[in-house]
Amino acid sequence: MQNFDQLKDLLASPKRIVITSHANPDGDALGSSLGMYHYLKKQGHRITVIMPTEMPDFLCWMKDFDQVLVYENTRTFSTKIVKEAEIIFALDYNSISRIENMSSLVANSTAYKVMIDHHMYPEDFCQSVLSDTSASSTCQLVYEFIELMGDVNELNVDILNALYVGILTDTGGFRYATSARLFRIVASMLEFGIDNNKLSDLVFNSYTVKSFNLLAHCISDCLEIIEDCNTGIVAVSQADHKRFNIQRGDLEGVVNFILKIQKIRCAVLITERREIVKLSMRSKGDFSVQKICSTYFNGGGHKNASGGAIKKPFKEVIKIFKDVINNEYKDELTKKLMVEL
Ligand code: 5GP
Ligand code: MN
Repeated sequence: MQNFDQLKDLLASPKRIVITSHANPDGDALGSSLGMYHYLKKQGHRITVIMPTEMPDFLCWMKDFDQVLVYENTRTFSTKIVKEAEIIFALDYNSISRIENMSSLVANSTAYKVMIDHHMYPEDFCQSVLSDTSASSTCQLVYEFIELMGDVNELNVDILNALYVGILTDTGGFRYATSARLFRIVASMLEFGIDNNKLSDLVFNSYTVKSFNLLAHCISDCLEIIEDCNTGIVAVSQADHKRFNIQRGDLEGVVNFILKIQKIRCAVLITERREIVKLSMRSKGDFSVQKICSTYFNGGGHKNASGGAIKKPFKEVIKIFKDVINNEYKDELTKKLMVEL
């Protein structure tokens, strides 16, 4: 970790610390933030977690979920806290723009900044950086950070439950982005008494009737399969938003369902927001959606899971995506898969 000794010295005495993560926080964003919060709080620091936008309801059972400030709802108070912070943690994001409405506030802060993240191509806005794209999740990296601090014996059930959530969500329940290194950490967590069955149930069996109906609608009415490119598109319009009263987070996970079709290698969820069209992409194997998102949609992420956004009419964005796939990636998407086990 870059400048680790400097950071360790700083953390040797109580500090005012703010933990931030990306807009529209997911399990890894919230898990890593709350895991770090419980750890640093135990060390005697004053910690505030501030998320740019609303948090996902399905994680409301997490310990101290209600202590997290949502910047868009608490601007004046949160701004004051960020301005008073001595250290700011940037967890689970690689680019300052991913904290949206908090970007300039954090960028202009004089606090010592620490990035812990696993996305490709981290931007240079933190003094201390732990960036590792081979990690399953930021939660895994927070666990390794605590190890690096020499504080494994400080781990407790609150820290580990929070970190387990992000590991579960970012690996899709241990289906991708796993490694022997991750499973060793998970084994330690289970030895500590973390309950995989209970946490998996809370995380994965978490649809509301509304979001389940919405998923059904996306699959039966909005899915288009481009057979000759092994690609699936779910496009959700503003009309759908009104009809289903779609809120932030309701479409979480929809894009992953497209990949359940055996031949599909590339999947995209295109959502028409009020001012912008958002894309969420997934792929299997060597096919990189990171490249598509960063080249055409002002985004990025990981090879197999990326996102982006573009200010163009909804229909035009769907066409741009189809043209890109058809003109540039058809061969790659249809080349024979050699399955070697
Ligand atoms: P999701 O599709 O679940 O929103 O995000 C998948 C991955 O892509 C996440 O790791 C996320 O950080 C990244 N990602 C999503 N949206 C954006 C975006 O607009 N810009 C960038 N740079 N990355 C994104
Ligand atoms: Mn993550």
